[in-house]
Amino acid sequence: MSDCLFCKIIAGEIPAKKVFEDERVFAFDDINPQAPTHVLIVPKKHIRGLKEAEKEDEGVLGHSLLVAAQIARQRGIEDGYRTVYNVGARAGQSVFHLHLHLLGGRDLRWPPG
Ligand code: AMP
Ligand code: ZN
Repeated sequence: MSDCLFCKIIAGEIPAKKVFEDERVFAFDDINPQAPTHVLIVPKKHIRGLKEAEKEDEGVLGHSLLVAAQIARQRGIEDGYRTVYNVGARAGQSVFHLHLHLLGGRDLRWPPG
């Protein structure tokens, strides 16, 4: 999608601090981190959000979680981290290209706000 911020980051048209990339996902540091580690894991395919994901996206959704776990291991934050999909504007979704937040490196309270 030509007017999508995360499609532009994946294409290298907008700079980002890349953390990981393979054929299915692109991961980069969040520009406004909410924790010492705050990484976004983004499918290369443009999917608007979790509620728009389809059966064929099942693989990349599972893969994204395993990539998050791998990054958490590499960052040494396995004592506590969180993976989050904000789904819809009321839950705080502001970029409408599916992305998994990986947050860690500090105490995380429950429930989130
Ligand atoms: P959400 O609010 O769940 O849609 O998450 C969108 C996230 O994208 C927010 O945490 C933003 O800080 C982050 N973000 C927005 N623009 C950029 C950017 N250019 N590079 C990296 N992260 C960004
Ligand atoms: Zn996109």
